Amino acid sequence: MTLPYLEPLVPRTPGGRVIPEPPRRGEPGGDPCGICTGQATAPVWSNEHWSLHPPVGGSLRGAVWLAAREHLDSFKDLSPEAGADFVKVVANVERGILSLGDVGRVHLYRWGDGGSHFHVWLIPRPLGMLEANGMMLPLWEDVLPNLTDDELREAAEVVARQMES
Ligand SMILES: [Zn+2]
Repeated sequence: MTLPYLEPLVPRTPGGRVIPEPPRRGEPGGDPCGICTGQATAPVWSNEHWSLHPPVGGSLRGAVWLAAREHLDSFKDLSPEAGADFVKVVANVERGILSLGDVGRVHLYRWGDGGSHFHVWLIPRPLGMLEANGMMLPLWEDVLPNLTDDELREAAEVVARQMES
């Protein structure tokens, strides 16, 4: 894997810790939750536990994010039913992304640092793009030219249709 930047890069010393950390979106004292207040992209698929959304301003066709229908923070807060359904839904999303073709592998990321409403990202690594292996894919995703938001939504709709088939 290779950084999407020319070298030499110089290691940076970490800054001072910020404790307590600032509130995330959807936490007391933070901005409102974008998902609960309807600011997220419209879902392309949903069931009783999950909704699937296209990104905006992204560069990789087939990237989607999956959010809990209920405002909860993380895996530890999921009901047993939602937790069991997560595995099935993620597998179906993965199959849907793979159906687009030209995908080497589907990466699954859970960050949770910006908003407190549980969601994960599924991002396809383009087939043969070995420099984007592992943790390099999100960096490459950031520097590659963006698709239009319509193209991202259309790809997500294909993913959703494959999930139902
Ligand atoms: Zn929320």
